[in-house]
Amino acid sequence: MRATPFHLEGKIAIVTGGNAGIGLGIATGLAQAGASLVIAGRRVAKNAEAVGELEQLGGKAIGVVTDVQDEVSVQAMVKATADTFGRVDILVNNAEINIRKAPQDYTLDEWQRVLQTNLTGVFLCARAVYPHMVKAGGGKIINIGSMTSIFGSSVAPAYSASKGGVVQLTKSLANFWAKDNIQVNAILPGWIHTGLTESTGQARYDAIRSRIPHGRWGEPQELAGTAVYLASAASDYVNGVALPVDGGYTSM
Ligand code: NDP
Repeated sequence: MRATPFHLEGKIAIVTGGNAGIGLGIATGLAQAGASLVIAGRRVAKNAEAVGELEQLGGKAIGVVTDVQDEVSVQAMVKATADTFGRVDILVNNAEINIRKAPQDYTLDEWQRVLQTNLTGVFLCARAVYPHMVKAGGGKIINIGSMTSIFGSSVAPAYSASKGGVVQLTKSLANFWAKDNIQVNAILPGWIHTGLTESTGQARYDAIRSRIPHGRWGEPQELAGTAVYLASAASDYVNGVALPVDGGYTSM
């Protein structure tokens, strides 16, 4: 076998929201590159289904029921990872929720739930893995943003605020933790077929597609290559970037 900086043999990766959509696409890519996986979502059956798929690839995987909004749950998930595998090398902060409505119609509770999952959840998970990555001599954190990290949204104000925050948090963590050999980067997916987007009406779906230079929406597994790169030694001098994977949408 050729030596390659892209392999993840012996690495332990946590993917929050790894039981569906983009999270599962990324988890699959990491497993194919040799990593062992922890699937951290709220639904036990969906976690188990994803673990089954990953095991079929020949890799090791466990599911840990986790609510990223909840500090105690996040700490328990990271402890379960360390207890099972002995280390934590890679964290993919991918879990999200969205509530689509006009800003003036948001209740405070709805606003806080979106921010708590999409932004505070990223902070809680990153903070929880930090001592383990320091102990391991370094690590990789990949935060999943969105096109709404760049553009405003006309349908999801809390979601876009949270995703803008994810990019600024990514840069801050990258600055603070570079000395610990931890690289923190973000992936900004374009428009991808998942549970999040399946309710998009045909007119809006077509309008979005017409703005994508590739001429089509993306698939969850199309995020995997970028995630493997950012999780591997191939990206050791890449820190604090927010990389669109969007079929060219942001260049249009
Ligand atoms: P999905 O809605 O398909 O999946 C969301 C995942 O998050 C599920 O696995 C869900 O599992 C998990 N989740 C939700 N809340 C929590 C929580 N509190 N704790 C732990 N896990 C949670 O989303 P996508 O796959 O579409 O999106 C994945 C990422 O990509 C998100 O960060 C999203 O913002 C981003 N993105 C997606 C785009 C798209 O076009 N699809 C575009 C731009 C960005 P469970 O319910 O079991 O907890």
